[in-house]
Amino acid sequence: MEFSSKLLEKAVNEMAQLPGIGKRTALRLVLHLLKQPKEQTQFLTESLQTMRHEVKYCKSCHNISDVELCEICSNEKRNHQMICVVEDIRDVMAIENTGQFKGVYHVLGGKISPIDGVGPSQLNIATLVEKVSAGMVAEVIFALSSTMEGDTTNFYIFRQIQQYEIKTSTIARGISVGDELEYADEITLGRSILNRIPFENTMKSN
Ligand SMILES: [Zn+2]
Repeated sequence: MEFSSKLLEKAVNEMAQLPGIGKRTALRLVLHLLKQPKEQTQFLTESLQTMRHEVKYCKSCHNISDVELCEICSNEKRNHQMICVVEDIRDVMAIENTGQFKGVYHVLGGKISPIDGVGPSQLNIATLVEKVSAGMVAEVIFALSSTMEGDTTNFYIFRQIQQYEIKTSTIARGISVGDELEYADEITLGRSILNRIPFENTMKSN
């Protein structure tokens, strides 16, 4: 791609670093910003900067939050003994949209994936095990996507908390293997949380 302006080229290259944005799309977005009033670019960059500098992670569940303890964790009406384990904030949003879950979450920040160099220590697993070992938890619900990485992560955590007398379950999904949680429709996802199955049962069927 030949540019008549180095400034334009630099902006396009930066935009094209984002996932799913190729050079052509990046150029379209940058040209769009050029046509808009300057303030719009300013609002966009300011909101990104502020978000990047000021966003926090909940000290209890690791969800993205503006305050130390997120709204879900600080809500006394939620069942704090029931913890749903998810990969990231998109899963929290998907499950919250179903309105079927009254417990709290634990956001791992990814899945165990040796190919991508992600091991258990890079994920928020230790803090979950701490909560369980402190006797603060009655049930852990695994809600990771049913990929090999998801299954490996579930099993790793299960081994860590197995010794404690708590219920472990996995969401019973009516969606095919490999589907990401965030794409499941709300009714299916809501039902799968209500109809969750004991984790041990899923191991026998494998
Ligand atoms: Zn939280």
